[in-house]
Amino acid sequence: MNAADPTNHSEIANLVSGVRDTFASGYSKDYAWRVEQLKQLELMIKEKQDDLLSALHTDLGKCKTEAWISELGFVLSDINHTIKHLKKWMKPRKKSTPIGAQPGKSYVLPEPLGTVLIIGAWNYPFQLLIAPLVAAIAAGNCAVLKPSELSSHMSTLLAQLIPKYLDNNAYVVVEGAVDETTELLKQQFDHIFYTGGEAVGKIVMSAAAKHLTPVTLELGGKSPCIVDNSANIDVTAARIVWSKWMNAGQTCVAPDYVLVEKSISDQLVIAIQNKISDFYGKKPETSKDYGKIINERHFQRLTGYLENQNVVFGGNQNIQTGFFEPTLVLDPALDSTIMQEEIFGPILPIITLDSIDEAIPMVNARAKPLALYVYTDSNDYEQKVLQQTSAGNVCVNDGFMFMTNPDLPFGGVGNSGMGSYHGQSGFDRLSHLKTVMKRSFKFDVSLRYPPFSKFKLSI
Ligand code: NAD
Repeated sequence: MNAADPTNHSEIANLVSGVRDTFASGYSKDYAWRVEQLKQLELMIKEKQDDLLSALHTDLGKCKTEAWISELGFVLSDINHTIKHLKKWMKPRKKSTPIGAQPGKSYVLPEPLGTVLIIGAWNYPFQLLIAPLVAAIAAGNCAVLKPSELSSHMSTLLAQLIPKYLDNNAYVVVEGAVDETTELLKQQFDHIFYTGGEAVGKIVMSAAAKHLTPVTLELGGKSPCIVDNSANIDVTAARIVWSKWMNAGQTCVAPDYVLVEKSISDQLVIAIQNKISDFYGKKPETSKDYGKIINERHFQRLTGYLENQNVVFGGNQNIQTGFFEPTLVLDPALDSTIMQEEIFGPILPIITLDSIDEAIPMVNARAKPLALYVYTDSNDYEQKVLQQTSAGNVCVNDGFMFMTNPDLPFGGVGNSGMGSYHGQSGFDRLSHLKTVMKRSFKFDVSLRYPPFSKFKLSI
């Protein structure tokens, strides 16, 4: 397979207007049609599983099990959950009606927004493009998909598969990089669903503003991981290692840095080192379960973070193969680049504190993160963290397990994004929740109409 083959600029406007015409024709609103498209997506995953897993391996070195759990299986479970609940989500949602509007009925009726532009990121190139598509289909929308050009094998594969399995008047793939995305962003959409970094998020939002198009921005940031003295260190270490080094740390919700009291930091560092060796062996370079860095630019960015740092574990690299060893950095300066930028790779800084009381102010001194992890056996400390910090998503005593529950909305806050999805929250996000009040012709109380001089009241 070659690198992603960009869609012709001149074709982009036509493709988008074709999809908009399909939406205007109305058939994507039909419940049975939505279910059929979702089932087609399911069939695509099942029939083309080997091709999809192989593209994930070529782009990111993902092993089959990890790729299945975090990409294909994740989306299959989202599809099943959506099909199971779709009828209920589409129903009018009854609301109470005040006495002044009686006799009458009030409800909210979900309606599709129209044509959605979905722009994906490269780190989970299947899941991050297809899970928003599941929400778009479920809500009765049409969509234009723009996979990340960095995960080029997945981009090419999806450009081949989507037209074979889905209605290609309603769902199209546009391949390419900045130029093609810029061209796409000039077009009129009814919603833009973007996953990626903050800088491009701002470009997307300002392009959307020209058409007053609403956006969902699934961004990133530095997700803190607080380990309180009461935590079970062995289990904590296993879960930190699992969530940090999956996909070689290239996960938007990976713990970015650890905050821990000096009194237990040695114990935690040793436990983390042991778990890394347990999971990936003494030579992670030969582990079939460990991924690779997406490209040279990101590789060099990560190497740069290690300059003048105290590397206490790992640090070996091979730019030719993309291998970057799980690496621990102890107590980097808080104003060093590694503590200023989102790492988005296999390096974990551990910041040791005199007292765990320093952790919350340190978290709050930074932009609101996409995820926050707290490991503690103390209900009081757990509540303190929950009440006194803000983050898109929190997990107490584990890594990003909240992603496995389709009933939980997933999204950022502040600089980590706006709007959430998965399950019903995705359906709602890509629907307009239309307010409807139905009144009766009976009891037409004339008091409400002018002239108001009939009231002898002085207001
Ligand atoms: P990326 O480079 O894959 O870019 C994302 C998309 O934006 C791509 O489709 C790309 O073509 C497009 N793009 C890039 N530059 C552009 C420009 N100048 N104009 C218009 N479009 C442009 O993604 P990235 O930014 O490297 O992704 C990494 C970031 O994404 C991290 O911050 C990570 O935390 C975040 N992320 C967030 C989530 C989430 O669900 N919240 C998931 C994955 C990644």
